[in-house]
Amino acid sequence: MVGIDEIRVAQERIAPYVVRTPTVPATALAAHCGAAVTYKLETLQHTGSFKLRGATNALVSLLERGSSNGVVAVSTGNHGRAVSAAAQRLNLRAVICVSRLVPAIKTQAIRGLGAEVHDDSATFDDAAAQAAAIARRDGLTLIDPFDDADVVAGQGTLGLEIMADAGATAPRTLIVPLSGGGLIGGVGAAVKQHCRDTRLIGVSMERGPAMVMSQQAGHPVDVVEEPTLADSLSGGIGLANKLTFNLVRDLVDDMVLVSETEIAAAMAFACRAEGLVVEGGAAVGIAALLSGRVTLDAGPACVVLSGRNVAPDRLAAILESAAA
Ligand SMILES: *Cc1c(COP(=O)(O)O)cnc(C)c1O
Repeated sequence: MVGIDEIRVAQERIAPYVVRTPTVPATALAAHCGAAVTYKLETLQHTGSFKLRGATNALVSLLERGSSNGVVAVSTGNHGRAVSAAAQRLNLRAVICVSRLVPAIKTQAIRGLGAEVHDDSATFDDAAAQAAAIARRDGLTLIDPFDDADVVAGQGTLGLEIMADAGATAPRTLIVPLSGGGLIGGVGAAVKQHCRDTRLIGVSMERGPAMVMSQQAGHPVDVVEEPTLADSLSGGIGLANKLTFNLVRDLVDDMVLVSETEIAAAMAFACRAEGLVVEGGAAVGIAALLSGRVTLDAGPACVVLSGRNVAPDRLAAILESAAA
């Protein structure tokens, strides 16, 4: 399992490689909600998403264990970019498998970091099978995007920072984008250690919410992958999921789904009202509050903005179509 000790070790291990991102007042969203709200601005992270934390923790601990053949990863884009950046920094070979649904801006960024990219799979699950085959063939270590203790511990460092920034006023509600559950699992492990009363809410998109459907079924299930503005949240959780299914079951208080229209409105709100570029998968927390699917009662709330990797043209089209 992943506990506070592993997360503290991760924090020290990755400190030289990652940005210690700030928590800032969410001025416009707070006004909309009539409550105190902050953003954890992980949009400022190197590579444009929090995934660098888990990837760096996994790669550095791999090197500590003496393995150096190189790594392979399957990704909806951001994990691949993070693994590639960490591998470049640590002088490791990186192979990244993505599906054709991954936006070109993300695939290009991965190539730009010197990784070998395979992008001919139809779905995330096909890309995962390809990555596993390459790992066997070339003797590389597979770095799972979420179902890996080092990755979860790395993502949990974000939770330690939220609690440190909050000081005596720990968030009463913490809203976190949810896909495979590495982020919310790590953050939950860190946060619940400090404050049991914090209500932890995971938000996924209506189109293919694999973890939410799995929790409802009581075991990991396959979902049909559909195109969504929240591209970084798509993909399955793995039928053989060994870690994050249980973490989400044990730590998450509520799970909420948001629609494509609500995600678009949230991205537009972030840009127009807050001056922030937020990708679809990272805007779901704002979407949950703007739409009223999550309401805030007592105490402050914190919304994790997990990444910024959206193509400018796509954001421009969303700004044009979403209601002001
Ligand atoms: C991967 C990702 C998530 C979801 O993280 P999980 O650990 O898979 O739940 C959320 N936001 C962004 C920007 C991501 O890249």
